[in-house]
Amino acid sequence: MTTIADRLANAQLRIAQAAQISSRNADEIQLLAVSKTKPNTDILAAYAAGQRRFGENYVQEGESKAKALQDSCPDIEWHFIGPLQSNKTKVIAAHFDWMHTVSREKIASRLNEQRPPELPALNICIQINISGEQSKSGTTPDELLSLAEKIALMPKLTLRGLMAIPTATSDKQLQRDEFQQLHHLYQELKRLYPQVDTLSMGMSNDLEQAIEQGSTMVRIGSAIFGEREKR
Ligand SMILES: *Cc1c(COP(=O)(O)O)cnc(C)c1O
Repeated sequence: MTTIADRLANAQLRIAQAAQISSRNADEIQLLAVSKTKPNTDILAAYAAGQRRFGENYVQEGESKAKALQDSCPDIEWHFIGPLQSNKTKVIAAHFDWMHTVSREKIASRLNEQRPPELPALNICIQINISGEQSKSGTTPDELLSLAEKIALMPKLTLRGLMAIPTATSDKQLQRDEFQQLHHLYQELKRLYPQVDTLSMGMSNDLEQAIEQGSTMVRIGSAIFGEREKR
């Protein structure tokens, strides 16, 4: 039987190999373990194997995990990577260290206002809708710079970079094009805001392609914790 520790080590190996192929330093690429729908015991198993960054998609679930593990694992860094309605921003502001899916000024300004004063600024990635499909969340590349400008002025937020969920496709060319466009946008943003250092793209099935195109944070769920039940 393979354990969570084995699968975590395997994911790290895949990252290291992908980095090597692109002549990149593996230290530039962070692994975010996506624990959505999985129990705290799974998070603890990954934690015991050295993992500290965890990603959650659902507000209530994320809040209850962060609270339950606060005392036993105080150094977990919690990343919110799911869709967020503006009436739920307070929970994220109070319990998370990173928020990857900001795509509207309204959400950003609520997070800024609701971030508790004793906590450091919330780290923000702007989600980009790279495929341009109406049904997908994220801001358009055209709107990116004006949103970034507003976020950069909010004292309780730190703009760290971009996040995207590209088209689910087996078309390698389309996949590469989307990752490349994201990398261009990222470089543009980085030139304007020196604190920007995060390009959050790549998941269990495409982490190699994402790293080849410049990803600095891959979000890995099923490859570490196993397949999820549909919900
Ligand atoms: C679920 C999820 C992941 C992880 O996906 P896997 O294919 O299980 O690695 C990554 N990013 C986001 C935004 C997700 O919702």
